[in-house]
Amino acid sequence: MKTLLQVKELAVSYFTYAGEVQAVRGVSFDVEKNQTVAIVGESGCGKTVTAKSIMGLIKKPGIVDENSQILFQGENLVRYTKKQWNNFCGKECGMIFQDALVSLNPTMKVGKQIIENLDNHEPSLSKEEKKARAVEILKLAGIADAEQCLEKYPHELSGGMRQRVMIGMALVTNPKLLIADEPTTALDVTIQAQIMELLKDLQNKLHMSIILITHDLGVVADIADFIVVMYAGKIVERGSCREIFYHASHPYTWALLKSVPRIDYNGQTLVTIEGSIPDMTNPPKGCAFCKRCPYAMHICKEHEPSKWDLGDGHEVSCWLMDERADREGVPFETGR
Ligand code: SF4
Repeated sequence: MKTLLQVKELAVSYFTYAGEVQAVRGVSFDVEKNQTVAIVGESGCGKTVTAKSIMGLIKKPGIVDENSQILFQGENLVRYTKKQWNNFCGKECGMIFQDALVSLNPTMKVGKQIIENLDNHEPSLSKEEKKARAVEILKLAGIADAEQCLEKYPHELSGGMRQRVMIGMALVTNPKLLIADEPTTALDVTIQAQIMELLKDLQNKLHMSIILITHDLGVVADIADFIVVMYAGKIVERGSCREIFYHASHPYTWALLKSVPRIDYNGQTLVTIEGSIPDMTNPPKGCAFCKRCPYAMHICKEHEPSKWDLGDGHEVSCWLMDERADREGVPFETGR
C-alpha cells in the first residue's frame, strides 16, 4: 500500500471569550491508498475538527497550528493558498456530511448541483459530457432513474436518496480521498446499512481512500481497515479493525465497544459512558479520561500516559499498559 495522506502532530485551537479551546492536540495518522480509516469518538472529541482541517475548512476563531503537517501525496496542505485549497476540495478530496437535506441547496435541482462541481473542477468538459458524468455517478450511487433524479429538488427525495446524491456529488470528480462525516446518523438502520455497503462498493470500483468519522464503532466494523479512537482532542488508541474489535486495550475503547448492540449477545445491557469530556479550555494535566475511567490510578491524574506500541500498528496511550500498573486501582509511582 502507498500512503496517500499523512497527518502529523495536527493541533487546532479555537480562540473564544472563554479562552483557548484546544480542540485537537497533536493528532497523527496515515491513510493509505484505497484504505478506509475510521475516526471514532463521542461529540467534542475532535474528530470533525480533524476532518475539517484536512479539507481546509477551519475558519476563525479556529486556527491550525503552523507546526502541524497534513501531507497529501507529500504536499503540506497547511501551507496551501486559498486557490490551492479550492482546487484540492472537490477535486482531490470529496466530503459528505451528516444531514444531506442541510448540505444540499434546497433551491437548486440536484443535477445542477452535481454539474456545478464539474464546472469548478473540469470546465473543459462539454455540457453533454458533464450531464453524462452526473448520470453515470448517480447510477453508481444506486439511483436507477438517474436522469429523472437530476431534475428533482432535494426535498422531493427520501433521506436515503439524498445521501446517495451527496455521495454522487462528492465522487463525480473522481477524488482520491473521500471524507464521510457521520454519513448515516440521520438515517434509519436499514438505510444506514445500505449506505455503508454502497461506500464499500464504490471504493472497490473507484479506488479511493475513505476517512469515516463516526461516534458509533458498530458502523465501522464492516468497512474500516484501520481505526483511530479519539478522546478530548487526542488519539487514545489506534490499530487495525481486527485489533480494535478483538484486542482493544484502552478503557475508553472498551466503553465504546460496550455501547454497541450485538446480535450474538442475548439480553445484552448497553452501557453508557458516565460523565462528559473535560473542559478543553483547561485540559487536565494527566489522562483526560481520568474522571470517567473506572480503572483510574493515582498516576493518571498527575501524568499524561505514554504511548505503548503493541505491534502491527496497534498503539495505546494508557497507564494500564505499564507493567507496574495495578488493575485494582492501587496507586503506583513512576519515579518521574
Ligand atoms: Fe484510565 Fe488511567 Fe488509562 Fe486514563 S491512563 S484510561 S485514567 S487507566
